[in-house]
Amino acid sequence: MKSDFDVISRQVAIDAVKAYFTDCQIEDADWHGNGIEYELESLPSVDAVPIKHGHYVGEADGYANGELVYDVWKCSECGCVFEDEYEKPTYNYCPNCGADMRGEQDGNT
Ligand SMILES: [Zn+2]
Repeated sequence: MKSDFDVISRQVAIDAVKAYFTDCQIEDADWHGNGIEYELESLPSVDAVPIKHGHYVGEADGYANGELVYDVWKCSECGCVFEDEYEKPTYNYCPNCGADMRGEQDGNT
C-alpha cells in the first residue's frame, strides 16, 4: 500500500538505483549512481518494524447441534492460547505478539 508515509528499505532503494545505472547507457552512469546513493545514504531514518498479520485459529473438541464448537483459540503467529474464551476473541492485535488480527478469521482445527 502506498501512502505519503510509506517506509521502504534504504538498501533496496540503493540497490535499485545501482541496477538502473548499471543497465542504462547514459554517459557518466557510475557518477550519477554514486551521487544518488550518497543522497539516499544521507536521508534520515525512522524507527519502524514490519507489521505482522495473524488470525485466530479455533480448536474444537465437540459438536453442538451438528456444528463444531470451538472452545480454544490460538494466535496463528505465536500460538498464544485464549483458553477461557468460548467466543472467538475480538482483540484487534494479539496481546502476546502484537500481530494484527483484523484480517481473515479462521475456525480450523
Ligand atoms: Zn500472537
